[in-house]
Amino acid sequence: MAPSIPEKQWAQVVEKKGGPPVYKQIPVPKPGPDEVLVKIRYTGVCHTDLHAMKGDWPIPLKMPLVGGHEGAGVVVAKGEMARGIEIGDHAGIKWLNGSCLACEFCKTGDEPLCAGQQLSGHTVDGTFQQYAIGKAAHVSKLPKDVPLDAVAPILCAGITVYKGLKESCARPGQTVAIVGAGGGLGSLAQQYAKAMGLRVIAIDGGDEKRSMCESLGAETFVDFTKSKDLVADVKAATPEGLGAHAVILLAASEKPFQQAVDYARPRGVIVAIGLPAHAFLKAPVFDSVVKMINIKGSYVGNRQDGVEAVDFFARGLIKAPFKTVPLEKLPEVFELMEQDKIAGRYVLEIPE
Ligand code: NAD
Ligand code: ZN
Ligand code: ZN
Repeated sequence: MAPSIPEKQWAQVVEKKGGPPVYKQIPVPKPGPDEVLVKIRYTGVCHTDLHAMKGDWPIPLKMPLVGGHEGAGVVVAKGEMARGIEIGDHAGIKWLNGSCLACEFCKTGDEPLCAGQQLSGHTVDGTFQQYAIGKAAHVSKLPKDVPLDAVAPILCAGITVYKGLKESCARPGQTVAIVGAGGGLGSLAQQYAKAMGLRVIAIDGGDEKRSMCESLGAETFVDFTKSKDLVADVKAATPEGLGAHAVILLAASEKPFQQAVDYARPRGVIVAIGLPAHAFLKAPVFDSVVKMINIKGSYVGNRQDGVEAVDFFARGLIKAPFKTVPLEKLPEVFELMEQDKIAGRYVLEIPE
């Protein structure tokens, strides 16, 4: 028997750019022919949701908006053309809610680059609600024995850092500097890096983040709020002091994006992932050339990256701390995030 679906539901709705989100009742959406309706049980809060509320980026923004794009739950309805996923399956809704599936990028496994993409919690409503819509082709099918609270952050943060580490081409035994290591993406990046055989230098601020990073397997923690010479401290932690083989930039602030070349190893790869508003990547031409530095961007992951990132998690290799609070508390989570006070991730529990 199909589950009964109410007409109305609780949601956090951003009604004007800048917020705050308003906790209120709104209609439950109906899935289109190629879509599924997921009853969300847990959803992570990504810094991207805060950027979205503030209108930080030069891309279309739906308003009013239900944010959220790390939603894990159960499929309760599907359109007649939705393939590969059934009512009752556990599913995750990601940042990439849908793409055209027909353009050059979609055909070559680069669907995050599709010009026809839909973004959960930016161009379409996301997962800060009891029932959310996803394109059947893009929702992540989740194994039933995987806990829905802990897997939620994998759906954006996990996939993104896993993809970024692959883009860095760092090999087992090499050293990766993770900038913003104490945040949501950073905590997961340390776990994926470790599972991939990489050595981690964690860069972030404060004692709570230091002890979290040390427990997640970082060999060295450099505190950017206390270090007198961050570049020297990072280099000192790398083999022969020559710098990091890879730098993964996850901070939502601009400064580290202008500093990474200084502690990257010759031939090092710098992967920009964090998306601070109105920021620029700036690097000295001379050092970048004579050190043969490779600077690149990395944007979420494709559907197969999603499958692989969830698989690492399902095999028990990825354990990052998260705190669970009710959906109602989203404004408080945003306040803590704005002040860089969150070690790891917050996960919202959605009312039944
Ligand atoms: P977060 O707030 O949980 O973590 C950011 C961390 O950066 C915090 O721990 C903060 O203390 C730290 N930080 C701030 N300034 C720093 C500095 N100068 N040096 C070192 N660390 C510093 O945020 P999050 O959810 O992990 O997201 C991080 C960024 O990644 C956001 O901009 C988000 O929008 C972006 N993001 C990008 C993608 C992508 O596909 N490229 C995907 C998801 C998120
Ligand atoms: Zn496309
Ligand atoms: Zn995200």
